[in-house]
Amino acid sequence: MSYIIAQKEVVTRKEQKCFGCARTFPRNTKMLREAVKDDIIFTAYICKTCQEVMNERSGDEFCEGDLYELAVEYENDLMEKANGT
Ligand SMILES: [Zn+2]
Repeated sequence: MSYIIAQKEVVTRKEQKCFGCARTFPRNTKMLREAVKDDIIFTAYICKTCQEVMNERSGDEFCEGDLYELAVEYENDLMEKANGT
């Protein structure tokens, strides 16, 4: 069972991979930085989309990359709404 010790919104100073969707984001991206305690303590970065997806899933646990499809779907939905279709 892993849990989050601390989280903070940061602007990345270098390229970071999102833990949720496993996509790589360039530096200067706003991401949520989390300190996660599992067997070890590690740092995870979460992109904006995955933060929304996680909110909708109300705290379900997931592994690295598990949110990829949901994240892409979420972004497609947003894009469709923006295009008014
Ligand atoms: Zn993500």
